[in-house]
Amino acid sequence: MSSSPPQQSRPPPPFAAAPPQNPTPAPAFPPSSAFSNLQISRGPAPPPGAPRSGLTPQAAPPAGFPSRPSSGMGIAAPPAVRPFPGSPPAPVPPFPRAQAASPPFGVPPAVAAAPAVAMQQPRPFGGPPPGIGGPPGAAPPFGGPPGSAAAAPFGGAPAPMSQPQQQPPQFGAPPPVAMMSQPPPQFGVPPGVGAQPAAPPQFGRPALSGPPAAAGIGSSQAMPPSFGSQQQQAPPTFGGPAPPQFGRPGAQPPFGAAQAAPMSQQAPFMGPLRGNAPAFGNAPWQTQGAGSGAMQPPMRMPGMPPNTLGQGMPPTTPTMPYSPHAGTQVSTPSKIDPNQIPRPMAETSVIIFETRQGGQAAIPPAASSEFIVKDTGNCSPRLMRCSVNQIPCTADLLTTSGMPLSLMVQPFSLPHPSEEPIQLVDFGDMGPIRCSRCKAYINPFMRFVDQGRHFICNLCGHSNDTPREYICNLGPDGRRRDADDRPELCRGTVEFVASKEFLVRDPMPAVYFFLIDVSMNAVQTGATAAACSAISQAISDLPEGPRTMVGIATYDSAIHFYSLKRAQQQPLMLIVPDVQDVYTPLQKDLILPVSECRENLEQLLESIPTMFENNRVADSAFGAATKAGFLAMKSTGGKLLVFQSVLPSLGVGSLSAREAEGRANISTSDKEPHKLLQPVDKTLKTMALEFAEYQVCVDVFLTTQSYVDIASISVVPNTTGGRVYYYYPFSARSDPAKLFNDLRWNISRPQGFEAVMRVRCSQGLQVQDYFGNFCKRVPTDIDLPSIDSDKTIMVTFKHDDKLQENSECGFQCALLYTNVYGQRRIRVMNLSLPCTNMLSNLFRYADLETQFACFLKQAGNGIPTSTLLHIREEVTNTCINILQSYRKYCASVTSSGQLILPEALKLLPLYTLALIKSVGLRNEGRLDDRSYWISLVSSISVSLAVPMVFPRLIPIHDLTSRGDDDSLIPSPLMLNSENTHEDGVYLLENGEDGLIYVGNVVDPTILQQMFGVSSLAALPSQVVLEQFDNELSRKVNEVINEIRRQRCSYLRLRICRRGEPSGDIFRSYLVEDKAPGGPSYVEFLVHVHRQIQSKLT
Ligand SMILES: [Zn+2]
Repeated sequence: MSSSPPQQSRPPPPFAAAPPQNPTPAPAFPPSSAFSNLQISRGPAPPPGAPRSGLTPQAAPPAGFPSRPSSGMGIAAPPAVRPFPGSPPAPVPPFPRAQAASPPFGVPPAVAAAPAVAMQQPRPFGGPPPGIGGPPGAAPPFGGPPGSAAAAPFGGAPAPMSQPQQQPPQFGAPPPVAMMSQPPPQFGVPPGVGAQPAAPPQFGRPALSGPPAAAGIGSSQAMPPSFGSQQQQAPPTFGGPAPPQFGRPGAQPPFGAAQAAPMSQQAPFMGPLRGNAPAFGNAPWQTQGAGSGAMQPPMRMPGMPPNTLGQGMPPTTPTMPYSPHAGTQVSTPSKIDPNQIPRPMAETSVIIFETRQGGQAAIPPAASSEFIVKDTGNCSPRLMRCSVNQIPCTADLLTTSGMPLSLMVQPFSLPHPSEEPIQLVDFGDMGPIRCSRCKAYINPFMRFVDQGRHFICNLCGHSNDTPREYICNLGPDGRRRDADDRPELCRGTVEFVASKEFLVRDPMPAVYFFLIDVSMNAVQTGATAAACSAISQAISDLPEGPRTMVGIATYDSAIHFYSLKRAQQQPLMLIVPDVQDVYTPLQKDLILPVSECRENLEQLLESIPTMFENNRVADSAFGAATKAGFLAMKSTGGKLLVFQSVLPSLGVGSLSAREAEGRANISTSDKEPHKLLQPVDKTLKTMALEFAEYQVCVDVFLTTQSYVDIASISVVPNTTGGRVYYYYPFSARSDPAKLFNDLRWNISRPQGFEAVMRVRCSQGLQVQDYFGNFCKRVPTDIDLPSIDSDKTIMVTFKHDDKLQENSECGFQCALLYTNVYGQRRIRVMNLSLPCTNMLSNLFRYADLETQFACFLKQAGNGIPTSTLLHIREEVTNTCINILQSYRKYCASVTSSGQLILPEALKLLPLYTLALIKSVGLRNEGRLDDRSYWISLVSSISVSLAVPMVFPRLIPIHDLTSRGDDDSLIPSPLMLNSENTHEDGVYLLENGEDGLIYVGNVVDPTILQQMFGVSSLAALPSQVVLEQFDNELSRKVNEVINEIRRQRCSYLRLRICRRGEPSGDIFRSYLVEDKAPGGPSYVEFLVHVHRQIQSKLT
């Protein structure tokens, strides 16, 4: 039943050739012939199905032709119709061709590779292979089925959990493991324990329902994007040299070593990769493994070379030499040595990670490291990873730890090119085998018994009859003899062909509808032209398959649709003037297969900037236009891409400038300014719910120079599986390139449509809530009109019973979706983790980046309903409670003068401090910047969560002095001002923005080589990084392009200078420095230590 791995080409690099490709001039559109077609339709030409009165079909004015709608045009324009924006003579597009001619930003990423890359670009639709929606395929490097996976011994979770043995909890003393084995009932739950993931409403247990139904509506959460990657967690070093003991800080050079660390090798693939591990200093003071290491059945880390990172997992069993007493600690607060405090470390090698080995789950490498996954039973950690790699048996144990229990699910995350593609399994009409009680899908952890005639569900424990045609004998090891030949029985992730029961209608086509703001400001700032240019270039990447359809409309105080049917040879402009009660002018012909209208569309895009060149209409009906676009695509669903430039001021969903109000409030004391971060009313939310119901996903590109109320606007993309892109202040000089690259990646990355997702788990746990960009209409499922490779959904859990020690807790995420080829698929990801009664194991197997991503999302989620001060306190308390729990129950040191950190979480204080000082949580800042941040974090991936607040800082003025053996990207510097000198140039990137700090006394030669200017005074703030003919310029471009590739994000580059506001922005990211917004890193550690001490006494 399994088919061969689908071939799929790799997604195009996020930013391949730069839009305006260097030398490649934009397609030459006949200048003014552009709309010659339109003229033909002048005159009466009543629109085909003119639906309602009020509809005003008009011939689009030819460029360069006065376009005042003469009365003769089309049906009488209703009063509301406003005259066509004038159209003066020379059609000089505001954002001239020049753009095409001169490369806006240096060499397009991967210039050299560009051609090659192009070949590999997978045509998102149209093409070929009935492949799997997702992963770029690479030849499976390893084929053999892993042996052990299937022997899932843990089957029934259902069984009544036996009580944990009762051992009297004895905390206090350094926990010999034994003691830990029992969750201490209540040792004082630290006050702050509250820090747990907020418990959302609890929907009941996932009912055993049938196949996920189609769309739903739900609530969405906010999420922000992020920046840079990297910072890794410090790999625990068990196995390694014994951690320095207490008080004396390890002798290691805090940073030095790290500096030299070579970066990870670059894998030669093009697709964006998750960040390579950034290099960071050596762990100065070791952290301590949970005191009980040795006692505990070691988790295996298959395949991990001894020194690899797995978070602190010992490579093999019990023999790990790490000292149970080692603890990272800083001595007395007053003695903290800034050179000895924990900082991220560099990981320099590519790790081969087998998800299970010897029948046990392996601990995943840090999300920010570079690794190649071999799926041997558990899914890739890129697809799904848990905040803790051992599941606490009881709610008390979890509460005591202060840690969150959640999964981060990124169903389409990009695989490493060397990974085997996900296998496709087709059960034909029978459909995938499922548990008849909980509906879980067949997976490697279901246990076959009774000669294979029955199987026990690993989630609910139900004994099911094996369908006759699926029966297979068991081997001596108890496994089915065919287990290694069936992906669904030996792989953590598979895709099933959806049978009829999963189809409520035919799979939808890939529909793209573009909406462009053409109001006065949009046109005058060049935003309209930038949008038209970006769309024109991006659609050239769309294959011409019949399933790829496009449509377009422009809007200001009215909405203008265009009928592009080729047969007409006369694109019609159809105006909808009613922006309160919107409708769509035609029932068909507004959305056509791209093959039937490409030329007309390109010509229209070429003409729009000119057509509206003299537009004096300042109003922009965003809500109405979005609704109208939705109506046009309601029958199919699809992606609605909106290019908005000003505050929506008219029609349904119009907004007001609340910013002034906010400023007043903030300055006069805080009169709940956070309310300005909530949507102004429910209008847009209601609309968004309807969009989601009809499978329409909205992405909003905000190319603006003013406040646009992102808090309100973002509700639409966040509810429909889309996102907000923000270009502020929009620059017609430097932003078009990013706009194009963002749009291009948006439509070409791996993605699925009309999706429904559900996570199931073993009895004893239940899903508490989902966070991300989706719509939720029923408690158990989330509806995703679109889900792409960048989106991550957080799923939180809570106990409703006890789990049994020595059993495993299973998680299964099922995503039903339509791929770009129009095939309905069910992607099923399984993760089975051991259960534990030992607190020390929770610390030892904690996943720092995943936990931090939880805290980040929860903070973002909380900002609109609380004060910033309160959120900062919560974030800090979460950190303190976790560390205090470790100190109290697991650390072996008794001296209270030491701050002891668990190895796996030793960077938690640093990242917590970074979060407190972030754009989202610091006091200063514009409302829209904060709202944008909130919207980004809501769907941010684990690998980008840390970089978003803890960026990467690298020197770029001396790139030419680096050796050939050095990694492409220099080792990151610690984030403090001691590392930035006025004679240097530094790049600070967080995955979203790239701040280039240029010192005041930089050698003019460097300025000339890097920017093409001879002095600081000549340096513009908006950078269009070009590649000049010199080594330094080439290297700078290489570095930036590599970062873009890693982040799947085209950085928005800005020049920062000391003494200017831009310099302050740069400094605000130097997390270790003391700043108006917060303490220095050392001060924060002292604070944390004191808080812990006071809780202990
Ligand atoms: Zn079941």
